[in-house]
Amino acid sequence: TDSLLLKSEKLALVGQMAAGIAHEIRNPLTSIKGFIQLFRSNTYQKEYYDIVLSELERINHILGEFLVLAKPSITVFEENELEPLIKDVVTLVNTQSIMNSAQIIVEISPELPTILCEKNQLKQVLINLLKNAIEAMPNGGLIKINAQMKSPNQISIFVNDHGVGIPKERIPTLGEPFYTTKEKGTGLGLMTCFKIIESHHGELIIESEEGIGTTIEILLPISFQPFFSTLSS
Ligand code: ADP
Ligand code: MG
Repeated sequence: TDSLLLKSEKLALVGQMAAGIAHEIRNPLTSIKGFIQLFRSNTYQKEYYDIVLSELERINHILGEFLVLAKPSITVFEENELEPLIKDVVTLVNTQSIMNSAQIIVEISPELPTILCEKNQLKQVLINLLKNAIEAMPNGGLIKINAQMKSPNQISIFVNDHGVGIPKERIPTLGEPFYTTKEKGTGLGLMTCFKIIESHHGELIIESEEGIGTTIEILLPISFQPFFSTLSS
């Protein structure tokens, strides 16, 4: 019965997501259609082109986030060092953090063991969390990434910001698709994070206080049995 319940929950989520995608994609399409009609009547201006381009970009962005989810579920878990992985990610978001006056500090405990993971997926999680942290601090500020042992078989990676924070009642619902408080947000980033961390048998723990900041803990087992996990899901 457990797995049946899970299945119906999954189906409900798929339906909810399909409705959400349709809605999210229809908005920019409707807007693009309107501007194309304007162009036909010859009253166009440069700014209309800009809107059309940014709406196309938005559709592309939404589909891009979904592609991450739609990728084949057979993933390759390998032993990876955390330090270079985290430093890669920081380099990747460097431009965005500089543009937003955010500074990222990395603290990694010495002699962390390697971790069994899908490198690109774990990077994706960190990128999404760092982007959220940067976006949470409109006037810039400090972001701290801290990796340390949690227990003999678990590593914690904390991502901490001093941003706007998240309302208490919202925290349990984070990870649901399409919840966003941003004008250009998709509300898909955290859902992707939850999904990836779940496939790593880990946990994503969110602590936040409005006006103070947010700390997200990625709790990961150092190793697990990937073979059994594939069978049971
Ligand atoms: P998006 O970033 O596109 O809005 P996400 O799924 O990444 O979508 O995040 C969903 C929402 O969760 C954000 O719009 C924001 O309201 C909230 N959120 C996520 N991370 C943070 C953070 N570090 N600080 C404040 N709010 C956050
Ligand atoms: Mg995001």
